[in-house]
Amino acid sequence: MAGNWKMNLFPSTAQDLVESLAVEAPKHTQVIYFPQAPFLGCLQQWNLGKAQFGAQNISSQSSGAFTGETSAELVHALGGQFTLLGHSERRTLFGETSAQLQDKIVAAWKHQLLPILCIGETLEEREDERHFEVIKNQLMESLHGLLPISADLILAYEPVWAIGTGKTASVEQAVEVHRFIRSVLNEMQVGLGETTSILYGGSVNAGNAKELFSQSDIDGGLVGGASLKIEDFRTIIQLQDECLHA
Ligand code: PEP
Repeated sequence: MAGNWKMNLFPSTAQDLVESLAVEAPKHTQVIYFPQAPFLGCLQQWNLGKAQFGAQNISSQSSGAFTGETSAELVHALGGQFTLLGHSERRTLFGETSAQLQDKIVAAWKHQLLPILCIGETLEEREDERHFEVIKNQLMESLHGLLPISADLILAYEPVWAIGTGKTASVEQAVEVHRFIRSVLNEMQVGLGETTSILYGGSVNAGNAKELFSQSDIDGGLVGGASLKIEDFRTIIQLQDECLHA
C-alpha cells in the first residue's frame, strides 16, 4: 500500500504519521511512503516499523549537470527502496513521456530501486473508448525496449480522471483494466502478467478500499490524499491486510 504524499507534509507531521502507523504494523501488507525529495533521508532515521519508502520521481541520468533532478543512486544511498515513475501529474504537468520512462526504469534497477510505473487514461480518452489503446501504448513504449524483463517491476493503474477528484473507478472498471494489463504483459513476455503486481490508484479512501482490494486482480493501492490522514490511511492499510489474510 503506497502513500504518495505529493508536494505535501513537513518532516514533523510526516514523522507523526509514520510513527503512529508503525505501532500496529500490518501482518501481510507492505506499506511504502513517498515523501518530497528534500526529506527523503529523514525517513531512514524514523521508526517506520516494517514500512519502506521511496522517491516520487528520479532522473534517468546517473549524475552531473542536471539541476533540480534527483539521482536513483542518491535515493538508494538515503535508504529508499522504491520509486514512482510516470505519475500522471509528471506526465501532464512536466511533459514526461513513456519513452523517457524506459530510461528511468533502467536507472532505478541499476541502483536497486523497485520502480512503480504509473499508467492510465484521461477522461477524454475513456469517453472516446480509447482507454485500452492508450494503456497498451503506454506499456509498449515504456517496456518494449527492456524485454525480456527479469528484474522486479510494479505497475499502478491510475485513471487520470480518478486522481484527486473523489471519483473512483468502479470495481468492474478497475478489474477490467487490470486484467487487460495482465494480458498485454503476457503478450509481451510469457508469464509477465502473472508475476507483476498491479496497484490501483485514484481516490482510494476508507470507504471504497475493501471493495477494491478484495479483488484478486488488484494487488494493492497507490493512495494520494487519503495517505496524508493518519486515521484514513490506517483504515485503508487494515482493510487491505484483512483482504490479503482472507
Ligand atoms: C495519486 O496521487 O497517485 C492518487 C491516486 O491520488 P488520490 O488518491 O488523491 O486520488
